[in-house]
Amino acid sequence: MSKVRILSDRVANQIAAGEVIERPAAVVKELVENSLDAGATRIEVEFRHGGRSLMRIEDNGCGMSRDDVLLALERHATSKISVADDLNRLASFGFRGEALPSIASVSRFTIQTREAASDAGTEVLVNGGKMGHVRDCGRAVGTRIEVAQLFNSVPARRKFLKTDQTEAAHIIAGVRLYALAFPQVAFTLIEDGRVIFRSPECTGLVERVAEIFGKQLAEGLVPINAIENGMRLSGLIGRPGTGRATRHEMITFINQRPVDSRALNYALIESYHESLPKGRYPLAFIFLEIDPAEVDVNVHPAKREVRFRSETAVRGFVIRSVLSRLREVLDFGNRISAMPVAPVINVPRDVSPVTFLVSIPPALVERRVEVNAPPLLVPPTAIAPQITNSKTKSRNEYPAWRWLGLAHGSYALFETASGLVLLDRRATHERIWFERLQDQFRAGAVPSQRLLLPVALELEPVASALLLARLDFFNGHGFEVVEFGRNFFRIQGLPAWMEPADGEPFVRELLGALRDGRLQDRDIDTAREQLARLAVANAVRLGDGGGELEMQELVRQLFACRAPLTSPNGRATHVEFSHGELARRFQK
Ligand code: ADP
Ligand code: MG
Repeated sequence: MSKVRILSDRVANQIAAGEVIERPAAVVKELVENSLDAGATRIEVEFRHGGRSLMRIEDNGCGMSRDDVLLALERHATSKISVADDLNRLASFGFRGEALPSIASVSRFTIQTREAASDAGTEVLVNGGKMGHVRDCGRAVGTRIEVAQLFNSVPARRKFLKTDQTEAAHIIAGVRLYALAFPQVAFTLIEDGRVIFRSPECTGLVERVAEIFGKQLAEGLVPINAIENGMRLSGLIGRPGTGRATRHEMITFINQRPVDSRALNYALIESYHESLPKGRYPLAFIFLEIDPAEVDVNVHPAKREVRFRSETAVRGFVIRSVLSRLREVLDFGNRISAMPVAPVINVPRDVSPVTFLVSIPPALVERRVEVNAPPLLVPPTAIAPQITNSKTKSRNEYPAWRWLGLAHGSYALFETASGLVLLDRRATHERIWFERLQDQFRAGAVPSQRLLLPVALELEPVASALLLARLDFFNGHGFEVVEFGRNFFRIQGLPAWMEPADGEPFVRELLGALRDGRLQDRDIDTAREQLARLAVANAVRLGDGGGELEMQELVRQLFACRAPLTSPNGRATHVEFSHGELARRFQK
């Protein structure tokens, strides 16, 4: 008997599902795309537990007849192309005819649909790829799909899912992309019974961005519109100086499809080279229209990564367009700069670091004000109260090192009994601060500073939800953040060690880290550790580096730490060259 066999449809579907349906967000993506392809003007997405337990996508699109819905659940059934050549001129999102059967093969899948020509709708249940029932149902024209118990029948895949919070973040980010690409379609997104956003039909992109990301962010944007050689770039870009710590708000579309395009991202970053400080990313919601034959969207069914036939041409076009728009905005800004503007206050250094924040209309200047920072951390004891009892003896033997000097401002050189030591000042400060903060966190004694002028913080709904869920945590660790209306917060106080001007960017950075999973806070100890780690990365600013006393004090404090050998990120705080090693180097 032959060993080669044709796979049953059910197995083939489950295998395809492995490619198409990486995670719950991929299900939502496929179903929202189907709704858009069906001409819907209203789409509602609801999910529970990061999409594991339930995803529901409902639309008012064209719907399907009973025959069509049964056919659509077969593999490679699609109404969108018939011959392979159609692939080159795709106008719709779907074309493979794989999504519905794949999803239905790995979940408990219920579809209700009705087309305008029928009086009754059809309901079909498919459970783990096995047909359940087919019956009439009452419903309005359109389609409603419920996907429950995703991957229950495929435990191996379930294992690869991340926390509910991470999966939810992917779903939310995904739906948001389609909402941006189709402002004229009303979108509602509901997580665990709570509305994340509900945006009616919008007149345009600005309105949609304001709905989803908040008015404050929308005000920092300017429209762009450029045409060249059959390509068109439109959308909104950040004013010079308006940037973000993460790439989350650099959003790109090609021919109305949300895409990840390295070429576009680099072009954007490059265009802002002189308009943003180092390490900040531009804000951009841009749409590139280009001959579909010039793009390959088909790199991977589940990925949004695209390739261009001529990368250089696209990149050049984007950079030229964005640069020239930024220059226009700057010129305009210069012309109006004679107008009275809220003053930029320079905080003198000898004033207590506690009470200054400057408020400037966001449309005029970026909020972040660089306050001339003091050499904040030298010595840390000056600012953070010592929690460790000085009678207790230091945890590690304090070594007798003789300070020789400072190299490149960042390395302190010491002579020791066994050779030479090079100490990295930053790594050392980070270690000391990290443990100090941990002690403060544990003792529940985080000194806080009240801000003279509270900072208004407007967040987009995802970040807002993340922050709301953690207000107690934040406020128990030196912050004083209060909710102030939907998606609005006020920062009224900050941990004492934080520069007031760093408060808002820091809170945003924390939320960004929570969102893309760099910061997991399932239990309080991890959350504290992560908070301390991020805080330290922000708080350490090296001054000039003082003299001997300061360096000796630094060493003393380092060796009072629990883990003096490494920085919180695992870098070495110091390296030692033993006599033996030195001798070897000099070939003695
Ligand atoms: P594809 O989108 O690649 O065609 P799918 O498996 O996603 O494949 O969908 C199969 C077919 O089912 C589609 O071609 C379309 O005709 C129909 N369909 C799917 N979802 C909807 C919907 N929400 N409204 C109307 N028709 C739909
Ligand atoms: Mg589809």
